Amino acid sequence: MLILGAGFAGSYVARLLGKRAPELEVTLVDPRNYMLYTPLLPEAASGTVEPRHAVVPVRVMCPKARLLLGRATAVDMATRTVAVQPAEGEPFEEGFDTLVVALGAIARTAPVPGLVEHAVGFKTIAEAIHLRNHVLQQLELASTVDDPAERRRRLTFVFVGGGYAGVEAMAELEDLVRDASRHYPSVRNVPRRWILADAADHILNDLRGRLGEYAADQLEKRGFDLRLNTVLRAVDADGVELSDGEHVPTATIVWTAGVRPNPLVAQLGMPLDERSRIVVDEHLQAGEGVWALGDSAAVPNAAAGGATDPPTCQHALRQARTLARNIAAAAHGEKLRTYRYRMLGQAATLGRHKGVFEALGAFRFRGFPGWWLTRTYHLYQLPLMSRRTRVVSDWTVGLFFRRDVVELGSLGRPEPLEPPAR
Ligand SMILES: Cc1cc2nc3c(=O)[nH]c(=O)nc-3n(C[C@H](O)[C@H](O)[C@H](O)COP(=O)(O)OP(=O)(O)OC[C@H]3O[C@@H](n4cnc5c(N)ncnc54)[C@H](O)[C@@H]3O)c2cc1C
Repeated sequence: MLILGAGFAGSYVARLLGKRAPELEVTLVDPRNYMLYTPLLPEAASGTVEPRHAVVPVRVMCPKARLLLGRATAVDMATRTVAVQPAEGEPFEEGFDTLVVALGAIARTAPVPGLVEHAVGFKTIAEAIHLRNHVLQQLELASTVDDPAERRRRLTFVFVGGGYAGVEAMAELEDLVRDASRHYPSVRNVPRRWILADAADHILNDLRGRLGEYAADQLEKRGFDLRLNTVLRAVDADGVELSDGEHVPTATIVWTAGVRPNPLVAQLGMPLDERSRIVVDEHLQAGEGVWALGDSAAVPNAAAGGATDPPTCQHALRQARTLARNIAAAAHGEKLRTYRYRMLGQAATLGRHKGVFEALGAFRFRGFPGWWLTRTYHLYQLPLMSRRTRVVSDWTVGLFFRRDVVELGSLGRPEPLEPPAR
């Protein structure tokens, strides 16, 4: 059995199958050997969680599965083979009898001039760490320039997309810059601008009502400039142009305006829905021996009257549980189970020990209790006790010591050796 994608959905399916049907030979294909726990990505960017602790090693999480490190590039349903491009070496083919497609999603970009060249996304650990280093570098550069306009440009940060990723990333990075600026006396008192633009008339779309209003209110009180009903018109090396007519000089543009399914799913020849997600039935089956789940699948939820799930890890995890059960049931000749999941809640951190947390649509918490419950919930969801312990130790250290403000942009890119002296 082959699972394409060892992200949230794929690695959970492999882990659960190792327990439910250990006789099945499961192979995971992914260019990364870790599962990224995305809810901790904003904290990895701001430095309250060590980046390595926000990811889970697939080989530890799924000890019974075989991991093939490489990128699936094509699937041939007729011969039931997948073409895999490893990081190094020749491409090869891997056969399957059962296929699970869990390829996730990528950032949904818009045809904005200069966007791809100058903006950074916020979906991978590499992007989060890049952003952390970039933001700290802006402080360094701002502290060394004499031109006030250039200093203001370096200290202006623009985020586009007011969903969870954009709001949490911006709030956490503002915390980082505020803490770090105490070490930069020349810019400590220079006003910094944090702009969040969104095409809608509100932020945090899934968190409407009082909690959503509280979140927007908190961000505005902290000085964030929320530009609602506003889209990005153009980006260049000097700044951005917004649809309200303002040209904002900045060196930091973060694009968090939604996701779209991994483009590879469009090449599989499977029926897709209007959002280009693989259509699956109530058992998560897409065809004979083919299953799909997570952000790249349109999964009907019986607990939501058959409406398809939104792209979240809490849904991906519950889908994985049903799918592992159904694959094991299919292998053992048992009845398949219908997928149903009633959402537990919504949660977001807003920085400065504040957050919003809604449970079962009835219990709402904000401020410090909202922040504490959000963290506790993420901890509960994080797989592996060893990972949880590491994250708790990061948080505990953060209570007693100031934030680490070191900028390690050169990490992973060592200088080449000098040629031998003559
Ligand atoms: C910043 C951020 C914060 C988030 N916070 C929350 C939150 O607080 N709560 C919540 O519920 N959800 C949150 N989400 C959403 C959540 O991360 C996704 O819904 C979830 O990860 C979907 O799981 P998945 O397995 O479908 O995709 P992913 O977890 O993205 O996994 C896809 C996998 O496929 C692999 N892959 C890609 N292309 C190929 C290829 N060609 N061949 C092989 N493998 C490939 C990737 O390397 C990856 O490992 C957040 C997302 C982001 C970006």
